[in-house]
Amino acid sequence: MTFENLKLLPQILTSLKAKGYTVPTPIQQKAISVILEGRDILGSAQTGTGKTAAFALPILQKLFESKANQRKGIKTLILAPTRELAQQISDSFRDYGRGLHLKHTVIYGGVSQRPQTDALRSGVDIVIATPGRLLDLINQGYVRLNTIEFFVLDEVDRMLDMGFITDIKKIIHDLPAKKQTIFFSATMPNEIKKISDSLLQHPVMVQVNPGLSAATTVKQQVYFIDKGSKKDLLNHFLAKEVKSHVLVFTRTKRGADKLVKSLIADGVKAEAIHGDKSQGTRQRALGAFKKRTVSMLVATDVASRGLDITDISHVINFDLPEDAETYVHRIGRTGRAGASGIAISFCSQDERGLLRDIQKLAKNNIEIVPTPKFERSPSHFEQRHPQRHEPGHESRFEPRNDQRRESRHKSGHGQRRESRQEYGNEPGREPRHHRSGNNSNQSQPRTNSSEDEKKFFPKKKRWNNTWKKKSNNSFGS
Ligand code: AMP
Repeated sequence: MTFENLKLLPQILTSLKAKGYTVPTPIQQKAISVILEGRDILGSAQTGTGKTAAFALPILQKLFESKANQRKGIKTLILAPTRELAQQISDSFRDYGRGLHLKHTVIYGGVSQRPQTDALRSGVDIVIATPGRLLDLINQGYVRLNTIEFFVLDEVDRMLDMGFITDIKKIIHDLPAKKQTIFFSATMPNEIKKISDSLLQHPVMVQVNPGLSAATTVKQQVYFIDKGSKKDLLNHFLAKEVKSHVLVFTRTKRGADKLVKSLIADGVKAEAIHGDKSQGTRQRALGAFKKRTVSMLVATDVASRGLDITDISHVINFDLPEDAETYVHRIGRTGRAGASGIAISFCSQDERGLLRDIQKLAKNNIEIVPTPKFERSPSHFEQRHPQRHEPGHESRFEPRNDQRRESRHKSGHGQRRESRQEYGNEPGREPRHHRSGNNSNQSQPRTNSSEDEKKFFPKKKRWNNTWKKKSNNSFGS
């Protein structure tokens, strides 16, 4: 099938040619003609599948064709969960709609509202918005939605996760009853089902399988590693195989900041983006990453959907995501539009349940790779108190018990550890992060990955509990 077969306007075909698109993606093949016919859509497709063009092209075409006999006001509203996604959708409307003379604007929080209200006052056909700021501007009287003809809700499940559901319901309340609705959500929890039932009229179901689309172009690997050693393993990859344009995901904002601080201290050009950063900082970080002045972007899941950056060579899941769908979104940032990419996940003991769910969705396409030998950094304690580990050093806080001290020296405790030692190269010496005592997999050459998995995830409950208690310190939650 070609774009010409979809009966798109010559102006749109010219824009698509300029973008270098030759054939419609599966979601475009399914959705474009359905929207042109005026039907509602209930869809499940990820960013990365060409979903934006699937709804933008037919909406642009219909707006253009009915332009002459339209009254004034906003005709299309698109709601997206994040500022980045809203901005990207806006950029797509700009690119696809060249020569159609339709006006669009993007509305999101974290920046001054002045340019947004100025744009609204001058009159726009299309508004792309995040729910919070839009509702704010509706309440201030800058936006009226009574002329809406097309309503797109993108990544509704994500909006639910982000706590936007009440805002969305209020916005829907302001929309006219007669409109064409396009509704995208990867999952359908009850709350979302209720909204879609009330909004959509005999919708056509459109689905592009997320698991398969990610698996085909992205090589997926997982390494079992304890929490405290993840940064050292990341350093190992940076030194050995991963050179630039790496997107790293952490679970928490604090974790992202902490990791970036530590990477910068190691001389890596890294930036963090997450919900606590101002929109300006996020855009600057993204811009620097796109221009390659920054080689590593560390993000929370605010960036996992919608980010359209070409040529990301590696996605590294420093922490596994809370749900399997998010994993697919994250790794979909590499291997975009048919290119190949590598997704590396670090899985610690407490994340093994998450990995199981992810493997299920990824149809066991994630290869378990033996953890390589790598150097470990000194702990904070060792950095701050190197003298406490010198042979013969006697701290004034240590119990004055000769016998006990002697036994500590015999067992190897209290001896100075090398500030950077080859992880796993010193039989008999227990690295700090294997306090559980089960470190035999590190001190001997590794043979196969299932052995790795077995050793890393022993069945003994007692051991699990000890491990959990002791490793509950890194990166918070
Ligand atoms: P999206 O899922 O809309 O975020 O699109 C993902 C990426 O695919 C974007 O970089 C688009 O520019 C690109 N894209 C969309 N449709 C096509 C197509 N038919 N052919 C090639 N690339 C496309």
